Amino acid sequence: VKRILSGIKPSGDLNIGGYVGALRQYVMFQNEYEGFFFIPDLHAITVPQDPKELRERSRQIAALYIAAGVNPDKSTIFLQSQVPAHAELGWIMETQAHFGEMSRMTQFKDKSEGKDVVSSALFTYPALMAADILLYQATHVPVGDDQKQHLELTRDLATRFNNRFGETFTVPEPVIQEIGARVMGLDDPSSKMSKSNPNTSSYVLLLDTPAVIRKKFSRAVTDSDMAVRYDWDAKPAVSNLIEIYSVFGDVSIADVERRFEGQGYGAFKKELAEVVIAKLTPFQEKYEELIQSEELDRILKEGARKASEEAQKTLDAAKRAMGLLVY
Ligand code: ATP
Ligand code: MG
Repeated sequence: VKRILSGIKPSGDLNIGGYVGALRQYVMFQNEYEGFFFIPDLHAITVPQDPKELRERSRQIAALYIAAGVNPDKSTIFLQSQVPAHAELGWIMETQAHFGEMSRMTQFKDKSEGKDVVSSALFTYPALMAADILLYQATHVPVGDDQKQHLELTRDLATRFNNRFGETFTVPEPVIQEIGARVMGLDDPSSKMSKSNPNTSSYVLLLDTPAVIRKKFSRAVTDSDMAVRYDWDAKPAVSNLIEIYSVFGDVSIADVERRFEGQGYGAFKKELAEVVIAKLTPFQEKYEELIQSEELDRILKEGARKASEEAQKTLDAAKRAMGLLVY
């Protein structure tokens, strides 16, 4: 079977970077693959979280998966912390990961830079991520470009474990879209659009109102000349906006360029905002229904049950292979 697993952390409100790089792909592939979509709350707590906000955001992210089109009757949606096998296999993967290779992870460097205090869990995070994926024998993992290195580590750890202890894990493939693999900040086209960026105008949230979306795009930085032209080297800010337009408007890059030929940035940014609003409005309506409902909690509870069943099989196999007793 073809299986996908992926998740978005409740470490902040979901923005269009996560939608374009990850969530949109869950919807694209859910009919072709067996989908496991989780909310990595154990990953979120590798940096400080307010308990009340974490609780609310975990439900919010789950509601947004469904609002954006993930079908809970087809795919399994669950909270990572409700399936204890993640933490257990995470520990086992830590025993297989080398300190040296973990030290080369650029996300740790980025996220720890300039911080007074860094949790040791932030460092071991990629081992837990490997466990998340391997527990479900995922064949494919749809992610943004920033997760490529962690996926490569997951593949290395799976292969190492299989070679040492016998075939236990499926070695997964990353699935990264060509357009929208790395949405950049609206304030700075050299840094990735990120939930944890304190500058709220660097991103557009899935739940931003139309007025806010218009304002954020109108203030987005652009490049020196006035042409709406796709060229990451010479015009990174505009190229970023063109990719967002292409994904939300479902048109090719060339069509976007053609459409705005001879027009300045003003017209382009105005229409970009409308294209994004048109896509997000139905998501927001569905979200409002779901977030109030007990249906959402029922889906998450049932998801955790189904996920636990699958995960336990792999965890037991890994333990047995290593010589840990399983009764
Ligand atoms: P944080 O800043 O807390 O790490 P984040 O915005 O990076 O939050 P994650 O939960 O770490 O979001 O990532 C969820 C998924 O979304 C991952 O698959 C990641 O690759 C993808 N993703 C995140 N940001 C972007 C982006 N700017 N462009 C494309 N994909 C992205
Ligand atoms: Mg991230």
